[in-house]
Amino acid sequence: MRVLGRVVMWAALALLGATAQASPIVQTKGDFVDKFRQLEGEDWPTPTDTRNAAGAPGHRYWQQKVDYRITARLDEATRTISASETFTYHNNSPDALKYLWLLLDQNYKRDHIAERAETVSPGGQISMTDVRKAMRYKEWEGGFNNLKVTDASGRALKFTVVDTLLRIDLPTALASGGVVTVKIDFTLPMPETRVVGGRSGYECFTKPDQDGNCIFLGAQWFPRAAVYSDYEGWHNKAFVGGGEFTLEFGDYDVSLTVPADHVVSATGELANPDILSAAQRARLAQARTAKEPVYIVTPDEALAAEKSAGKNGASGTRTWRFTAKNVRDFAFASSRKFVWDAMGVKQDDAAVPLVMAMSFYPKEARPLWDAYSTKSIAHTIDVYSDFAFPYPYPTAQSINGPVGGMEYPMMTFNGPRPVKDKKTGQLTYTERAKYGLIGVVIHEVGHIWFPMSVNSDERQWTWMDEGINSFLQFEAEKRWDPVKTRGRGEPRDITEYMISRDQVPLMTHSDSLLQFGNNGYSKPATAMVILRETILGRELFDFAFKEYSRRWRFKRPTPYDFFRTMEEASGVDLDWFWRGWFYTTDHVDISLDKVVQARLDTRNPEVEKAWAKDRDKTAPTPLTAVRNTEPPMIDRDPKTRDFYDETDRFTVTAKDRKDYAARLKKLEPEQAAALAFKDNFYHFSFRNIGGLVMPVILKLDYADGSTETIRIPAELWRYNAKAVTWQHVTPKTLKAAEVDPLWETADADRSNNAYPRRIEPTVLKVRDDPAGGDNRMADSELEVSPDSIKTRPVKKDEKKKDDE
Ligand SMILES: [Zn+2]
Repeated sequence: MRVLGRVVMWAALALLGATAQASPIVQTKGDFVDKFRQLEGEDWPTPTDTRNAAGAPGHRYWQQKVDYRITARLDEATRTISASETFTYHNNSPDALKYLWLLLDQNYKRDHIAERAETVSPGGQISMTDVRKAMRYKEWEGGFNNLKVTDASGRALKFTVVDTLLRIDLPTALASGGVVTVKIDFTLPMPETRVVGGRSGYECFTKPDQDGNCIFLGAQWFPRAAVYSDYEGWHNKAFVGGGEFTLEFGDYDVSLTVPADHVVSATGELANPDILSAAQRARLAQARTAKEPVYIVTPDEALAAEKSAGKNGASGTRTWRFTAKNVRDFAFASSRKFVWDAMGVKQDDAAVPLVMAMSFYPKEARPLWDAYSTKSIAHTIDVYSDFAFPYPYPTAQSINGPVGGMEYPMMTFNGPRPVKDKKTGQLTYTERAKYGLIGVVIHEVGHIWFPMSVNSDERQWTWMDEGINSFLQFEAEKRWDPVKTRGRGEPRDITEYMISRDQVPLMTHSDSLLQFGNNGYSKPATAMVILRETILGRELFDFAFKEYSRRWRFKRPTPYDFFRTMEEASGVDLDWFWRGWFYTTDHVDISLDKVVQARLDTRNPEVEKAWAKDRDKTAPTPLTAVRNTEPPMIDRDPKTRDFYDETDRFTVTAKDRKDYAARLKKLEPEQAAALAFKDNFYHFSFRNIGGLVMPVILKLDYADGSTETIRIPAELWRYNAKAVTWQHVTPKTLKAAEVDPLWETADADRSNNAYPRRIEPTVLKVRDDPAGGDNRMADSELEVSPDSIKTRPVKKDEKKKDDE
């Protein structure tokens, strides 16, 4: 937390008075705004030995390591996990720690801070799910129960629960470089995801036509060490539902005891593969080199397990053991409903040369999942490796259950399913579900890079994981199908958000974001697309982005490390870009207000006076001169005419000619050549309406049929961020001009981009005339009696006749 920083800022505000800004540098003359002011030294934190000025981990970089050994039991009847966790905390920090903070992130507990602080829109409506949730919380509390904390020798340790945080007081401070082992026993009732929400939980198929079996998704299911970092100390801000999880890396050894007929998927690799049948192990071996996904558990086998549930299979239990190295979390999924398919994905020259891409799904997700889930994982590995670094783990899994989309190390939960027609039982899926599935698998598996490997602080900065990941998802989707995919990142799609009122800058804490999806995902993804395609170009962007990814792989970057690295590695000053896109709510709207065609003054009176005379003729004759039909005096009395009636101000005089000859004599040859230069000087007046400074991409259409696109750098705006005039010299004659012709800068109003302006086509929707209000008489099956204004019941046979 940054309490100190806030205190200093408020003290500064008090000194400067209410109108002063937090920045110590204040422009008090004129209204000049420096949109190019450097962030280094003013807005960004001072570099340290831990994170250096180039945006890389410093020579004294450190982070904590926490290893976990957990034995857990899933009780299917009570839908509860009971577990015993032993974690070993390696204090790599330079500081002694008197206590340890752990996370108890459950947004589905009855008295949770997020529940207590929940707001609703006044009156109006409530969703059926919210009603069910309110009912559920009357009988079910959720959250961690039966917490018992001891040291390695079983001695009780004092602990305090502070909402979603747990503080464990150590008998003696853990010195720098020291190691401590702590044991925690607990139980955790799993939430029904579709009722109380959350990023894990269970789903049971209990409708009359369903099989009664359940899918269990375990996540945030054990107390996990909170982060202790070089820049914030303990990251102990309660989970209120928005900002996700900030965690330490470590090694895991987890034994999960589940009903004997369950199939389990989890972070890591199966450490006791003999739990599988010989046939399943053979299929897994075959899947390693297969070109198509291979069933490890076939649809028939999953169906048989569902049918025999409760009869012979479900009584006993089996223990699945998983190990995972250097991960920041551990999740699992367990169900007898699971079909399991797998396919090996080769990675050349990578630390992990073969990744097992695997999917687990119920029959309700078929055949959509058989076709697309595992292949989407493989595609993600291909594209993200290209942009960042090879996939760092041995497995990459996609699990279908009640969670729409959520990521964990080596594990992802993904929601889309086909739909079943209630009458015919026929399965179909929408285009939305198909591309939704491909998109969400790419997105969630993509998170295994950002933030599961490049371990940014999700609790604080949503854009660092969701935004960067949405950008790569967009690139991956474009490489799947350039037309049909639906990811966020296309500049033209962000304009409506960019002009909306209720928004905050990207550099805002996750829990305070307005329009979460647009802010956390779409805007940063779009900014990255624009940075790549428009600002830096692909070569510079890709080099710098790869540098960022690799520098911070398995480390903890801050926004400033990202900004600094992108500038350092690309060699391009981007402070104006970060300012505009990350520090403000400005939008892009550049208007081409005016174009002027100029030529050089030749100083030759014959040329210049003739040109001026031609220009004069283009003006319309004054109305009085046109409408007065009587001949004027000079015609009625020709004697009034003299020299001045025969000449005008455009007449070249002897003096004009003499002066010109004299000036010509004085000119140096290069001056004479300059005056003879015949090219056109075009002056373009641009106005920055949106406030965000951006390059101006200017397409020029010439009279000879040729076109030219000029990319004017954003630095155009450095002396005046509101209005500038820019010059272009060409022998060609300009016919038309247009700003941002490919709509690549997210320009929010294109009607002011073209010069001359265009007439815009649109469609007027025709509104139906309003109906006459509710007809209670008709609804009561009465009609007006014919002899007086009285009502009588409608006769049944009459009514029937009317219907025919
Ligand atoms: Zn995400």
